[in-house]
Amino acid sequence: MQHTETAKLPWYKKTNWPNALFLVGTPLAAFTLTPIHVSLHGLSSGLVIFFFSYAMITNLAVTAGYHRLFAHRSYDVSPVIKWLYLIVGAGAVQGSVLQWASDHRRHHREVDTYADPYSIKRGFFFAHIGWLFVKDDPIYKDKFSPDLLADKAILWQHEHYYPLAMFMSFGFPTLVGWAMGNPWGGLIIGGILRIVFTQHCTFFINSLCHMIGNQPYNDKNSAKDNFFMALFTCGEGYHNFHHRFASDYRNGVRWWQWDPTKWWIQSLAFLGLAYRLKRVSSWEILRARMAQQQKQLLSRGVPAETINARKTKIETAQARMRALKEDYGKLKASMQAQSRRRLLQLKAELKVAKLEFRMARAQWGAYFKTFKAVPAVSTAGY
Ligand SMILES: [Zn+2]
Ligand SMILES: [Zn+2]
Repeated sequence: MQHTETAKLPWYKKTNWPNALFLVGTPLAAFTLTPIHVSLHGLSSGLVIFFFSYAMITNLAVTAGYHRLFAHRSYDVSPVIKWLYLIVGAGAVQGSVLQWASDHRRHHREVDTYADPYSIKRGFFFAHIGWLFVKDDPIYKDKFSPDLLADKAILWQHEHYYPLAMFMSFGFPTLVGWAMGNPWGGLIIGGILRIVFTQHCTFFINSLCHMIGNQPYNDKNSAKDNFFMALFTCGEGYHNFHHRFASDYRNGVRWWQWDPTKWWIQSLAFLGLAYRLKRVSSWEILRARMAQQQKQLLSRGVPAETINARKTKIETAQARMRALKEDYGKLKASMQAQSRRRLLQLKAELKVAKLEFRMARAQWGAYFKTFKAVPAVSTAGY
């Protein structure tokens, strides 16, 4: 489907000028002001640490917040964490959650078609940054998902996005720089340079992760797993898995895969600040992998019968394993029920025994009192 309405407009009318000026202006400012500032004032270790940590934090607010929480609802969080995502995430200058998550859901739904807002089929430049230079088709204007619109916190961020983004992206780094005795350094390194760095890391997911990498889970769309990109994007580089199982809170699904966003969410869950983490079953994931590997084996000339025989063996073993697991679960539950019943029975019996003991004890007391007054009979001489 063409973006017909927008496509008809002359270039200067279809250009999204605020976006274009910001996306061209910030790298120009960063690459001229950074060397000037460093040559005049040097580069303190505090500023370098602030650059990387604030880049990581704002990036995480996008990956764990904007992406995995708001766009995909792959887990739930406490209100404190939700507000942190909304406030800190604005510092990445990637738009409001309402706009970002709506665009991203469309990307998943319409991937590789003309309706995909950052379709790789329109070239690397368009998918990377070009799509932000042009106005979206009017049919998508203010078309936001109802669940996002129903969230008052998300609406608040959308309405206050510009002042919030300006403060979090420029004001806050300047204040941190000022606290370190170098407000200009804070603004240039922690503000402008960091924005360019984090923005392009995210942009590379839309461009490179739809071009370079492998497809272990699905080849029905262009999404690729790319370890190198995962390093720079808190784990978002495992994009092939993500497009196949978008509701899973993990992107790097295997334990050794570099996915700090997954570890962050797990840590929140450990602290009781995140819950209802969605996971696709490991069997579903294995089946997707096997389907892809089967295609590769077939393309290498391995006979279909050999592959199917081995596949059936795995499926039979898995079915048996699942049946045994179910039996085990049922038996465990019934044993627990039996034990619970026995426990209640013992409790009741104990209560009766205690009562009997108290009564017998009382009878003994009464009996003793009755005969206390009776003179003792001497037993001496017996
Ligand atoms: Zn994608
Ligand atoms: Zn996604």
